This record gives sequence, C-alpha cells and structure tokens, in this order.
Amino acid sequence: MPFETACRIVEAELYETAHAGRYDGVDFHFLGGEPLLHFDLIRDLCEWTWSEARPCPYRFYVITNGTLLDASRRSWFESHAGRITVDVSVDGVDGMHRTNRGCSVHELPVEWVHRCWPGSRFKMTVSRQTLSGFAEGVISLVDRGYDVTASLAVGERWTDADVAEYTRQWERLSSYYRSIADGPIWRQLLKSIDPLFDNSCVQDKCCGSGDSAVTYDVDGERYPCVIFTPLVSGQDMRGMLRGIRFDDPAVFADPACAGCFIRNMCKTCYGFNLRERGSLAERDKSVCGMFRVEIGAICSFQRDLLRSFARVRNLSDAEAQRLQRAEAACEALNR
Ligand code: SF4
Ligand code: SF4
Repeated sequence: MPFETACRIVEAELYETAHAGRYDGVDFHFLGGEPLLHFDLIRDLCEWTWSEARPCPYRFYVITNGTLLDASRRSWFESHAGRITVDVSVDGVDGMHRTNRGCSVHELPVEWVHRCWPGSRFKMTVSRQTLSGFAEGVISLVDRGYDVTASLAVGERWTDADVAEYTRQWERLSSYYRSIADGPIWRQLLKSIDPLFDNSCVQDKCCGSGDSAVTYDVDGERYPCVIFTPLVSGQDMRGMLRGIRFDDPAVFADPACAGCFIRNMCKTCYGFNLRERGSLAERDKSVCGMFRVEIGAICSFQRDLLRSFARVRNLSDAEAQRLQRAEAACEALNR
C-alpha cells in the first residue's frame, strides 16, 4: 500500500469516528500475509499519525508470525509500546504450532510480547491435526502466565471422531481447572453464557465484519473484513456485497439455527459462508457438534464451580442467577 493511501485511510477513519459518535475510538490492525515485510511503511505511518493531535482515541496493532522481529524492530516497538501492540498467534505446544504454521513456538517472541504488553492475549487456532493436543496446549500456556483464547479453524470438515476427541479435550481442561485450588482458571471456561438466554434477536452476529470492523486492501478499496478481499477470497466479491446491511443482525441469522439453544454463542465466518454456500447466513453444520461440546463444557464447568462455592458460603445474587442459568443450560444441553 502506498504511504499516501495509508495516511488517507487513517485520517478518514479517525475523522469519521470522531464525527459519527458511534464508537469511542479506532483500533488499526496491520494484517498480512506478514505485515512486517513492510515494517518501514508501518513505522512511517505510525510516526506520521503520532506527529499531530488526532480527533479521537486510537491505537495500532500488528498481527505477525514474529519471524521478522529483529533487534532494531523490537527496539522500535518497545519504545512505542504505549501506542502500538504486537500480537502473535501461538497454537499450543511446539508440535501443534509447527503443524499449523510450519515454524517452532521457540522461534516466536512470546516472552518478549508478554513482557512488553502484559495484557496481551495469544490466539490459538485448533485444527483437526492439532485437536488431540488442545488441552495440553492451553494448560501449558496458561500455566506460564499467558492469556490465551482458542478457536476452531474455519473451513475444517469436522467428523464424529473429532467431536469425540473435542469432548475428551474439554473434559481434561474442566477437570484440570477444577483440581487446582489457587491457580488461574482459563478464561474461556468462565466466559459469560448470558447470550444463551437472550431472545431479543433472531441470532447474534458473532463478529464485527462490515460494521464495527472494516478492511482496506493495498489499493485503498474498503471491504467488510479481510476475508472478502481478492487476496483472501481469490475472487472479486464486491458485486455480491452490494446493498448488504452489515449492521442488521437479521441478515446474518441462519433460519436453520432458529431453534438451536446455542445459536447466540455458536461462531461462524460470514465470508466463508458466502464463498462456500453463496449466503452470508448459511452456516457450516459440520461444526454443530463441536460447538455443542464446547458450550456444554463451559456451562457444566460454571455450574460445578458455583455449586462448590455454594457448599462453603452464601452466593451473591449475581452468582445465584449465574448458577440458575448454568443449571438450565446444562439441562437444555443434556449435561
Ligand atoms: S450449533 Fe449448528 S444449528 Fe446451532 S447455531 Fe451453530 S450452526 Fe446453527
Ligand atoms: S466474517 Fe469471518 S473473517 Fe470476517 S471478521 Fe467475521 S469471522 Fe472474521
């Protein structure tokens, strides 16, 4: 992307956000491929943006595989850590990361990222090939003090055997975090289950695509998110996207999910739906079993945790309501 195009985008987004009053500020994420192939452009754009007062709060992020972070680049990021964050994906233990991304976890600057940005959350993608290491991967990262969120790889054809393996992995995670008295509990087990009880919309939109998030391609063309760009989708999807109201959740609700109890916590990728099935809303039903396992495990973990609290002390009103919901969810999911 030419420097002038990047500056124009940053200026326009900050101006639009400040004047529309819909959001408090803007997060700018540099995505690739590998964005550090163009480190000079990132540095020049950030320094240009920081050189004068801007009309609303903002922050920069770089999503990198970490292999191009040499000493001088690290030093630049470190000296600006208050206004730009480096994000890296860590897909679990070494073999898992190598399987998904072809390089070793030991080559990643995980400790450096954690030190410079202590609140950083590492993203773990679980593929069919790494599924059997999922629990071990999470535990090893959380035990080292890292915050991690895991999500299933999009586009996998999950089988019944995968569902059975995913069940075993969540059982292992649940029993591990039930057994440790004082250590940190993995945040995903404590995720709010309130959306399960929200009947205010047909089905929650599960990402900000085209609404709170947009992506600009190298030529400055704006897309709802990265998956709709020609580089990722492999085609020109602009015609298919014309006229779609990305701020209307109804557009993204799959009629086939209407009676599903977990419809507001189940995830999908709308760009993938459009590319594979010709409809933003139509979800891949091979993920159903996987999400039922995941959400069921979260509900039963929370139910058991709150019951254990209730045995030794009075629950607060909020905790009592959470227990009630967790019990109702477990019943609905036969847990
Ligand atoms: S689990 Fe299946 S039916 Fe339920 S919301 Fe997800 S995709 Fe739809
Ligand atoms: S449509 Fe897919 S790629 Fe785009 S933000 Fe949503 S989940 Fe991510």
